Amino acid sequence: MIYPVVAYGMSVLKKKCAEILKSDKSLDIKKLSEDMFETMYAADGVGLAAPQINLPIQMFVIDGNPMIDDEEEKDFKHVFINPVMVEESGERWEYEEGCLSIPNIREEVERFDTIKIRYFDLDWNEQELVLDGIKARIVQHEYDHLQGVLFTDYLSGFKKRLLKGRLAKISKGNISVDYKMIFPVLKKRGRR
Ligand code: ZN
Repeated sequence: MIYPVVAYGMSVLKKKCAEILKSDKSLDIKKLSEDMFETMYAADGVGLAAPQINLPIQMFVIDGNPMIDDEEEKDFKHVFINPVMVEESGERWEYEEGCLSIPNIREEVERFDTIKIRYFDLDWNEQELVLDGIKARIVQHEYDHLQGVLFTDYLSGFKKRLLKGRLAKISKGNISVDYKMIFPVLKKRGRR
């Protein structure tokens, strides 16, 4: 099932997401992960976090393989549940990031090169990954979503002011995008 992607401006994107309880039988994480991958692929994304489909819970999926050139490295598809960023290290470097919730905007974001992240997989086994380069960056971007942080939050005040109009257009649904999205409900009438 393909979910609509939440657009910039919806409050769910600014929330700190809740931990998923293993005992919560009302949540089928396997089915949800399948749906999240389907939603992500339909939008040509390499990562998708649960708040982006309006679920403020700590889960994201990644398939970074389209961004990896080296055939031998093409094994980068994972589901992350209740992830904890243990360490970020190395040089910081800039890269132009985009986000399915903020279509048609790409901006340079500086991040640490190397990360160590701990999380649970779909079978509730604890996993730890050490990643660098583009793989680390994709994970950092998605991990940020679970903290209510968007890549635009890292931009300078000047850059933010430049983008203000375009971001407002996204929130109003005033954009052309070829996947399904949901937009914030805006108050249409002001006070008389
Ligand atoms: Zn994003």
